[in-house]
Amino acid sequence: MGRTWIRPRSLKLTSKLFFFTQTFLFSHNISYLSTANLSSITMELFDIHTHQILLEDNDDPYHSCILDVYPLEFEVAKGTYERHSFSCGIHPWYSEDSDAQMKYLTEIAADSRIIAIGETGLDKIKGPSLSVQTPVFKRHIELSEQLKKPLIIHAVKAWEQLFHIRKETNPTQPWIIHGFRGNPQVTQQMAKAGFMFSLGNKFNVDSLEFIPMDSLFCETDEDEMDIREVYQQIADALNLDIEDFAAQIARNVHRVFPTLQTPPSYFVGDDE
Ligand SMILES: [Zn+2]
Repeated sequence: MGRTWIRPRSLKLTSKLFFFTQTFLFSHNISYLSTANLSSITMELFDIHTHQILLEDNDDPYHSCILDVYPLEFEVAKGTYERHSFSCGIHPWYSEDSDAQMKYLTEIAADSRIIAIGETGLDKIKGPSLSVQTPVFKRHIELSEQLKKPLIIHAVKAWEQLFHIRKETNPTQPWIIHGFRGNPQVTQQMAKAGFMFSLGNKFNVDSLEFIPMDSLFCETDEDEMDIREVYQQIADALNLDIEDFAAQIARNVHRVFPTLQTPPSYFVGDDE
């Protein structure tokens, strides 16, 4: 069955409405075809860090996710979201008394549906002290290196410690700072050190020019928003066409997460 998804003229303003209309049409098996000519441009959209999948349907029509789950949640989630992949880890806020979760993580982390380790990291504002968080973070680094899976990192005001640990452990796997909002100076240092960046709803516009285009990803994290809004905001801030921007992000995802399933093509209508 051919499914065609057509972008409305003003994606930013109408995406929510569009999304729900398409979802309705989709769930009622009704084909939606605009009178606009279809161009050959399609967009693959990826949300590399989210805590929920809004459409609890594996036929989610337009994007693929890396759903973040706790070790003990994985078995159920794995059966529920067949088309998506997972990151699995212990959030730094909950790293105290996490031995049981860590033991279980070690047992399941090799599962092919888990394509990233995390979110893990360091938070100086919230959670237990860094002396509790650091060994748990380092255990995630070991798993990431052993299993050759990228690391998804939550970092708040702990840049210095992060640099130090990166130097000390000298990882071969990509380290992606999720929900990145660092200032231009921090961004420059991190890019130079080889970190990668995932941006969500809020990001520092002035830092964008210091993020290499091949080190950039998009996410919704805990925001109940459409990933297309995130793509649009960043593309606008970079002064890029959303199609070109999406193509770059897709290349990054295919390179760093080669087993994340490609979503169904999202066709872009000709804007006449
Ligand atoms: Zn998160």
